[in-house]
Parts: sequence; structure tokens; C-alpha cells
Amino acid sequence: KLITVEGVDGAGKSTQMAVIDQALRERGIDLVRTREPGGPETAEKIRKLLLNEPMSPKCELMLMFAAREENLDKIIRPALAKGQWVLCDRFTDASYAYQGYGRGRSIEEIRALENFVHPDLKPDLTVLFDVPTEVAAARLSRKLDRFEKESQDFHRRVREGYLRMAKAEPERFYVVDGTQTPEQISAQLREVFAQWK
Ligand code: C5P
Repeated sequence: KLITVEGVDGAGKSTQMAVIDQALRERGIDLVRTREPGGPETAEKIRKLLLNEPMSPKCELMLMFAAREENLDKIIRPALAKGQWVLCDRFTDASYAYQGYGRGRSIEEIRALENFVHPDLKPDLTVLFDVPTEVAAARLSRKLDRFEKESQDFHRRVREGYLRMAKAEPERFYVVDGTQTPEQISAQLREVFAQWK
């Protein structure tokens, strides 16, 4: 199984990844964890470029998919082939949300790249952490990366993009209300992942 975790920056995704990870391991599931952009060494180098260097939106989009290809080739596909489960912090939905809805690249263009890089693979489950843009912004206090520095309007478009995708594929998306306390969210996730498939 491929499980992906998505959400706007500041939605509480990183904290809750550990909860999902633990809930699955407690069931004895052989789990591999990775993240995007990143994962294998070369993809982590691409991540550094993406988060720190100025570049055109088209370059950004292609680098996201370049990093994704490397992650698929080195981590995700080998794990799935061995029957392991993969928990990935962001995946192609993030490209639709950020490079598409956020940055304004066309959805057709992103779909073409998706069909090029992984025509055969879709997440089995996508957990989407959703919070209003203002709440998310207030939570971001650390050193901000290139994306986190973007305007509230950008983040609002990203959020709306995610919600639209969740609505279009309700059987794949599990939307978590990120305005709850971390304890409430953890409890909810432990319950879901104690039994999910
Ligand atoms: O989730 P994480 O904070 O590690 O992601 C790093 C940054 O890359 C985030 O600010 C996220 O918004 C951005 N990102 C993106 N497009 C993607 C994946 C991540 O803009 N496809």
C-alpha cells in the first residue's frame, strides 16, 4: 500500500506523520517512510535547490517530478515490490496543489508529467490535513523556506486546490480537521490506522 500525507504548510502534518507511522508498525506492518521532495540522496539534493534557489515555476515543476522519479526508483517502487507499505510525506497531489493551483501551472501539464513519471501508480490512501490559511500562517514561525514565504493568497489557492481534489476523489482522501488539538488528531488517526485495510 502507498499512503501519502498532504496539507498546506502549518497544518500539523509533520507531527502526525509519526503517529501514523507508529500505529502501522504496532500492527506489525513492514513500513518504509519517505518524503517529497526528497527521500534518496540525489532527491534530497534536488530538495535543497527547490527550497532555497530562485527558479521559474516551470523549472520548479520539473524538478519536483525529477525528485519524485528518483524517490519512486530508489525507495517507493522497490518497497512496494517487496510487499512493504510506504508512507510518503507529500506526493503528486502536492504538485497539483502547489505548482498548479498555487503557482498557476496548468493542470493538463501536471497530468502529462504524472503520466510520464508514474502512469501506473496512485496512492491507496491520502490523508489531507486541512486548516484555514490564517491558522496555518500563524503556526509558521521558524525559518521559512521559499514556499512558506509565499503570500496568503498563494496558500489559500493551495488549500482550495487540495480540498477540490479531496472532493473529486472522496474514496482516496481522508480529510483531517487540523484545527483540532494535536491530541484529538492523534487519537483520531490511531483509531483510523488501527484498522485501515
Ligand atoms: O512538507 P514539507 O514542508 O517538507 O515540504 C517542503 C516544501 O516544499 C513545502 O513548503 C511545500 O509547500 C513545498 N512543496 C511544493 N510542491 C510540492 C511538494 C512540496 O511546493 N510538490
